[in-house]
Amino acid sequence: MTYSEHIYAMAQYLESTGIEVILYHLDLPVAGRIDYKNKKIWLNEPGARDGLMTLSHEGGHWLSYLKFTKENYPTHIREGLAYLYGWKILRELSPGMISRTEWREHHGFTQKTSLTNRKERSRDIQESM
Ligand SMILES: [Zn+2]
Repeated sequence: MTYSEHIYAMAQYLESTGIEVILYHLDLPVAGRIDYKNKKIWLNEPGARDGLMTLSHEGGHWLSYLKFTKENYPTHIREGLAYLYGWKILRELSPGMISRTEWREHHGFTQKTSLTNRKERSRDIQESM
């Protein structure tokens, strides 16, 4: 399966949990966005490999939201949950497609940084909710 096919498979899975996924919303100013209330994820990532990681990240936001139903968690907590739950679905749905190192780098980690001192990525700042 190609990265694009993995994106479609993951979008299908996420939609089965009750959220609409809008792929290739190319006028979005950020790579990905989630709206918990209106149950929508938008993706704006022309590259399939990055797109798969971005969709996993947004899916991680959604699945952790479903589990904890707390959209008012502070940003760093929500981002930490998206990181963990996004990696979980990526591993389950697309095993071997993205390495742990790539996943960490996608989130602005370098070899020695941790969740507490990581750099914020611009897409996280503009996420709604
Ligand atoms: Zn995020």
